Amino acid sequence: MAELLTIEEAQRLILERVRPLAVERVPLEDAGGRVLAEPVRAAVDLPPFASSAMDGFAVRSEDTPGTLPIVGRIAAGAPAQKPLRAGEAMAISTGGVVPEGADAVIPIEYVVERDNDVEILEAASSGAAVRPRGGDLHAGDTVLEAGERLDPVRLGALAAAGVAEVACSARPRAAVLTTGTELRRPGEPLGPGEIYEANGLILAAQLASAGADVTRLPAVADDEEAHRGALERGLDADVLVTSGGVSVGPHDLVRRIEAELGVEEVFWRVAVKPGKPVAFGVRGSTLVFGLPGNPVSSLVGFELFVRPAVLALQGYSDPLPRFEPGRLAAALRQNPARDELVRARSTDASDGAVGLEPLAGQESHMIARAAAADVLVLVPRGGGELPAGAPVRYLRLG
Ligand code: AMP
Ligand code: MG
Repeated sequence: MAELLTIEEAQRLILERVRPLAVERVPLEDAGGRVLAEPVRAAVDLPPFASSAMDGFAVRSEDTPGTLPIVGRIAAGAPAQKPLRAGEAMAISTGGVVPEGADAVIPIEYVVERDNDVEILEAASSGAAVRPRGGDLHAGDTVLEAGERLDPVRLGALAAAGVAEVACSARPRAAVLTTGTELRRPGEPLGPGEIYEANGLILAAQLASAGADVTRLPAVADDEEAHRGALERGLDADVLVTSGGVSVGPHDLVRRIEAELGVEEVFWRVAVKPGKPVAFGVRGSTLVFGLPGNPVSSLVGFELFVRPAVLALQGYSDPLPRFEPGRLAAALRQNPARDELVRARSTDASDGAVGLEPLAGQESHMIARAAAADVLVLVPRGGGELPAGAPVRYLRLG
């Protein structure tokens, strides 16, 4: 048998086939989770004016310490109507505009206020409790670069910088099709030999978290006609992900029917455990992934192969899974032929490195065991054993 592709080779073949989707302008409110197609510049200085960091009194630092008349009251959004003159104080709220002439704010905790006077007990330095205009960034500065994904913090940065609309690539339209005569939906009674369908839900959630707009097609039995109709529908999407039916059994129909429908297979089978029989092909601009049916194989195959493609379709600058360094908490035997993704729990290790505790129950049908994992540990193929404490790389789930 020919050498199987490595994970990296398979990922490269996939990314070579990805053409980023068209760019569209999106209101910031609808841009959560999307990837910027262009750098974004700030419309205003941030903060847009010198503002108070505290509730207190705006003064000239050279007038402190001392007792000063309170000549005005400034609230956030309601600036003073006149400048502050020598020997005066103005009450000011957090976020209020520091009045012209003032260079410091004395927090309310450090003053004694009486009638219309305020006694400042200690000398303040120039700039104390004042947030300078443009201290976060300046108008015209780049807030975010093309290829960055709009997570909550980045959305907030754009909103604060006055950005109302952004250029993003379109959201990939993804279709999910699960195959298997044995599959029943949760809530239905199980007949002999039947199991509950899990992969459709997992894949739909994974796709959504990668930014796709997901359609779940009704599951199909291992029947050629049913496959044909459903796959044809799925091939209208930008990404079609199937589960099951890509192995070597007589009822594994997905690849054959896809070929009949014009899908050009790019690869089938990768040296990875779980998930070896994964298939990837293209028809026109549609990317077609066939994931094996065992739920953990499907889950792992998605993270290694489908998520990077969905991110790359959106122009994401760094679409491949981000493995981080950690240490094994227990010894693991290597698989001689395939890189293995081992379900594990991460812990704090005494030396600061993340500890990785492999879970019991590593078989690819054991989705309930896998639910206790927060990471996948990459165990490179080889003939030996990785001892406890060995440095490894892991991928965070979810
Ligand atoms: P297959 O890849 O079709 O040979 O399926 C491999 C194993 O995964 C079999 O035990 C199937 O019953 C099971 N399986 C297939 N599809 C699903 C699914 N959507 N949810 C849960 N288990 C599945
Ligand atoms: Mg099957």
